[in-house]
Amino acid sequence: MNGYGGNILRVDLSTGKITRQPTPADMAKNYLGGRGFGAYFLFTEVPAKADPLGLENKLIISSGPLSGLMVPGAGKCDFTTKSPLTGGYASASLGGHFTAEMKYAGIDSLILEGISPKPVYLFIDDEQVELRDASAMWGKGAITLEKELKEQFGEEFQIAVIGPGGENGVAFAHINHDFGRQAGRGGVGTVMGAKKVKAIVLRGTKQIPVADVQLYRESSMALFKACKEADMLKEWQRYGTTIVTSWCDEVGALPTRNFSAGSFEDGKTLYGPVMREQIVITDKGCFGCPSPCGKYSKVGRYKSHVEGPEYETIGMLGSNLGISDIQDVAQANLLCDELGIDTISTGSVIGWAMECYEKGILTKEDTGGLELKFGNVPATFTLIEKIARREGLGKLLSQGVKKAAQQVGKGSEKFAIHVKGMEQSAYATHYATAMLLAYMTCDVGAHHNRAWAITYDLQVGRERVAEDKVARVIWLQNFRPMFDVLGACRLQWVELGIDRNLYVPVLEAITGVHRTWEDLEKIGERIWNLNRLYWKREIEDFDRSWDLPSPRFYQEPPKTGVTAGKITNYEDVQTLLDMYYEQRGWSHEGLPTNDTLARLDLAALAN
Ligand code: SF4
Repeated sequence: MNGYGGNILRVDLSTGKITRQPTPADMAKNYLGGRGFGAYFLFTEVPAKADPLGLENKLIISSGPLSGLMVPGAGKCDFTTKSPLTGGYASASLGGHFTAEMKYAGIDSLILEGISPKPVYLFIDDEQVELRDASAMWGKGAITLEKELKEQFGEEFQIAVIGPGGENGVAFAHINHDFGRQAGRGGVGTVMGAKKVKAIVLRGTKQIPVADVQLYRESSMALFKACKEADMLKEWQRYGTTIVTSWCDEVGALPTRNFSAGSFEDGKTLYGPVMREQIVITDKGCFGCPSPCGKYSKVGRYKSHVEGPEYETIGMLGSNLGISDIQDVAQANLLCDELGIDTISTGSVIGWAMECYEKGILTKEDTGGLELKFGNVPATFTLIEKIARREGLGKLLSQGVKKAAQQVGKGSEKFAIHVKGMEQSAYATHYATAMLLAYMTCDVGAHHNRAWAITYDLQVGRERVAEDKVARVIWLQNFRPMFDVLGACRLQWVELGIDRNLYVPVLEAITGVHRTWEDLEKIGERIWNLNRLYWKREIEDFDRSWDLPSPRFYQEPPKTGVTAGKITNYEDVQTLLDMYYEQRGWSHEGLPTNDTLARLDLAALAN
């Protein structure tokens, strides 16, 4: 098939059996690739109610039809599994160079099944696929090990690796690649660790078939040209995602002290220009990227180097913990990367623990003697280590904020900031109804990258509860994740303002199939609804209550900053959900109706 590697590679870790099957053409037609393949395999192959850390769960790693080709940022790879953090659907996107190499090895999806009896790493060099002993690697830090593997195998091999957090069962462990890119959310690294796979080492040398080479050249060059000529290119490249730190602070969206406010009085020391001047030494990009947003930094105080921190990490390990020095945030970032745990969830659980401590819910006895106040940098570093090793208070926090709060109780559930068990990423949503709804209804839990709707809130009135806002969220949820299906970065469209229609001839030239964005959005809608069915199948009591945000966002208006005193009330939260379900074609409890399933060709799968 044009645009595809052509194979699904399955590795049964329990038996060591390795098989290849041709990528099914009907799956490619209906789900296209990447996140679509992951959602389809998860729903159809992982038995209902499977233990996320058990034999039956699978880790599904998928490229898309644009991956590895001459398209801006065509290095996006999807990791799908049943989440040990939420118990529902998890899908995490990874940039860098891994997926391109997968495609060159002829692989569209790599599916890890079963559990290995001992630590292994998976070695792939085109047709050569082997499980090799990784006993000596077990316990090593993710960045340290990647460096060693690069030295051992050579630069052309791409590597995905877990750290101690994934080995030890931290529910939000990530998978590291390219020394600072991560498949970060939902515990995909936890599942890899449970399967006893420490690393994947990968190289491919094959060509990817393209339907119309001339059109491919012309249309992809048009895309690159548009990126190069974009007005925003220079600024985006200079600051990357940290471009929004100051904006978030100014509009009251910067998570501050466990999301109790959206503006940080010391926020200016975390802004992009300060970081650029103090620590950034070079820019770093993913495969085929004309607008590298990665920032590689030298952290003088700690004599260390790290990729980042990017905005989400600055928000969650900086202002959310009351930490104002960018060097401290960068070092916390490095600790999480090396230990293999998600910076967003880590910042959230520590923020919750700090609030518990300041309110007397947790004491020094619980913290192992740590003075766990907001702004305490050494205590933060210590706690990151303890979480990754699941020691002391770290063991409680390693389950994620929802379970930790349920265990501790004493009212702490009210300021555990999550939806469906996934910690909310770095936008405070007391007073931004579209962004709040985007978090409430996101298909993995409270993650921002499906529908980044906060700018729309600012444009049309942030307190409004209206059908156009709901329609905007739904459109973004159907459309934006399609980049994760195609296997390319969305940020050229989001940040540089590239016309999305420029992707249409490129996709057609590569695959030989004409698809409009309306066609692609229908695939996006199909995947969204399939994932909703998955949640219901896995969680017996799944209903609209699972879409509610943390009570902090409808009960506790911030006391400081530009959103002081502002909040969305509970009735408006429920109205947003009613509107959303209606527009989605879902029932009052938030499940796709039979008509919706039929319209999206999902009726057969649903039964
Ligand atoms: Fe990677 Fe950033 Fe480029 Fe996207 S914009 S491809 S995330 S470097």
